[in-house]
Parts: sequence; C-alpha cells; structure tokens
Amino acid sequence: MPKTPYLEIDLQKIKHNAQMALKMWNKYNIDVMAITKVGLGEPYIATALLDAGIKMLGDSRIKNIIRMKKANIDATYVLIRTPFLSDVKRVVKYADISLNTEMKVIKALAKEAKKQNIKHKIILMLEMGDRREGILPENIEKEIRTILKFDSIELYGIGANFACFGGIKPNQEKMNHLSLLAKTIENVFDIELSIISGGNSANYNWLENHTNIGKINNIRLGESLFLGVETLYKKSLGGFFQDSFTLVGEVIESKIKPSLPNGEIALNAFGEIPHFEDKGLMHRAIVGIGREDVDINGLIPRIDIDILGGSSDHIILDAKKENLKVGNLIEFDLNYSALLSAMTSSSVKKVFKE
Ligand SMILES: *Cc1c(COP(=O)(O)O)cnc(C)c1O
Repeated sequence: MPKTPYLEIDLQKIKHNAQMALKMWNKYNIDVMAITKVGLGEPYIATALLDAGIKMLGDSRIKNIIRMKKANIDATYVLIRTPFLSDVKRVVKYADISLNTEMKVIKALAKEAKKQNIKHKIILMLEMGDRREGILPENIEKEIRTILKFDSIELYGIGANFACFGGIKPNQEKMNHLSLLAKTIENVFDIELSIISGGNSANYNWLENHTNIGKINNIRLGESLFLGVETLYKKSLGGFFQDSFTLVGEVIESKIKPSLPNGEIALNAFGEIPHFEDKGLMHRAIVGIGREDVDINGLIPRIDIDILGGSSDHIILDAKKENLKVGNLIEFDLNYSALLSAMTSSSVKKVFKE
C-alpha cells in the first residue's frame, strides 16, 4: 500500500473522457486541444490523451511542455499563456504554437525564431468580454498588419477565452462575433486562419444549444477531460467519468467528542474566528491530510461523512454513522482547485492506475 496521502489517477477514465469529448466536438468539425496544465505535463496523462486520439496538447507553462517533449510524447505543443519576455528562447525552441496578446512579445519571438531558423506559429487571443487576456477588437487590424510583416512568425489563428476571470458565458452571440472577426481578418488581409479557437470547458452549453457553429474549429479542454464536468454550472457531462482522480488519506484518530469547543474563543491557526453548532456528542475522526497537502475546501468525501474543517496537517470529520477506525482509508473527490493543489503538492504521492 502506498504511503498516504496519495492521489490515485485512473488513466483509462481520462482516456475515455477524451474519447467522449472528441466524439462530441469532432461531430461539428471542431478539433480538441487538450490542456494539460492541471496535470503539470505528467507524461502518463499526456499519453492517455494521445491514446484517445488527441493530437494537440496545450499547457500554460513551458516547463510542462518540455517535460512532455523530453518523455518523447509526440504531439503538436501549444503554449497557452502569453510567453514571458524572459523566456522566448525556450518558447520558440519547444512550443510549436504560442498564444499571444502583446506586440513586444511577438517582436521578441520573431527575432528569436529568425535566430533559430524557425517559423513560429502564433494564435492571437482576442478580448471578447471576459477581461482576462486578449487584444481589444478595435485594435486587431492594426496589430495584424504589424504581425504579417515578421517573416519568422506565422499568424496561425485567433482565439478567445471565456468564463475564466469575468465569468462571461461563451454563448451563440459571442461565437458569432468570433466567427465574424475571423471572416473579416481573412478578407481584409487575404489570408487563411488555420485555427479559430472558441473557448474551453465552459463551451459545452453552447455546443448543446448552438444554432450556428460558424467558423469555430478548435476548442481548448482541460477540466472537462479530467473531471467530467462543464465549467459554467459544474454540471456532470453525460457519459464522462467524474472520478478519474481520488485523493486517499488515512484515519489517525477516531473518538466520541463534544461538538462544541470548550474555553474562550479566539482566532484559529488561520486567523479565522471559528463558528460551531452544538450537536452534542459526536463521532469524530481525523484524517492525516492538511492544507499543507491540498486545498481541503475542494474535497468531497465519497462516503456519508462531513468535513468540519482542517488545519495544516489535519482534516476533522463528523463521521456520522460510519464506524471509522484508525488506519481506515478515506477517499475524496476533488474539485479543480483541490486537484491543482494535489497535483502540485510534493507531499501527495501520485499513483497511476492503468
Ligand atoms: C486553462 C485554460 C484552458 C482550459 O480551460 P478548462 O476550463 O480547464 O477547459 C483553455 N484556454 C486557456 C487560455 C487556459 O488558460
């Protein structure tokens, strides 16, 4: 048995989810770029995605892309966060395509690509209301005019991001607008855009209810492939697995205790004033997982017990009717934030299930 806490990763379930997504999106000639950032470019996960039929892998960090390349994972690699000016050399060397929003960076990429004798492809991200990254629509033509002058840069496509910062829905109106912008760019500059990337795991609602796919031919999917949910309402996607990842911890204390703390109340270890309900005596258990390991607010126990709270190294449980004993293993589902923290945590062992 592995030491706890550990994160069990079911590669077959991830592969299945990627196959489901490909089926749904390919039906409308929309290609799926799988976003590996929550998996930190873990080669086993990348391999499961490619086994499903994914051809393009996107990650926000160049070090994750380098990790996958060094593991000989053969895909088209896309850097999906605008490159750091301090990192253009590695971006040109390792990423086939990068998402961009700043002329200063594109200029530096052009210079570096020329030096490396490479034509670097870029996808220009357009700001369409979510107010995270992107060029404002009124500046697109001016920016593209400049980009087309760099002979070591290929304007490979355009894209937009939704529901990340501003919580803006990628609805039919937004998709129409993106298609229209693509058409206008192609007409004005007499070029063909290979990729028109319409969004992320927040776009399922649009796919289901769309009236017109327009020119959208690419989608960037992360969370839906890993957790089997769309992200606008966190609705489970039919036929997808929601339990590809399991966090496992072990019970280190199990006792009947009063539910109310006893004494004078002040701040807890995290500077909060805790509030408790009097439920009388309670069967409580402690699991050896804490905030040092993972974002415990994003954990959902798989059995009928309640998380009362936690500290750096403990999760306190109301064991309810479960007869928990010291040494018992407790399984948790993870939301996106908890998954990200568990993946990046060096104190959570990763266990791959074939
Ligand atoms: C993270 C990210 C995605 C993937 O988003 P999910 O909600 O996980 O599908 C897509 N595009 C960009 C630019 C991102 O940063």
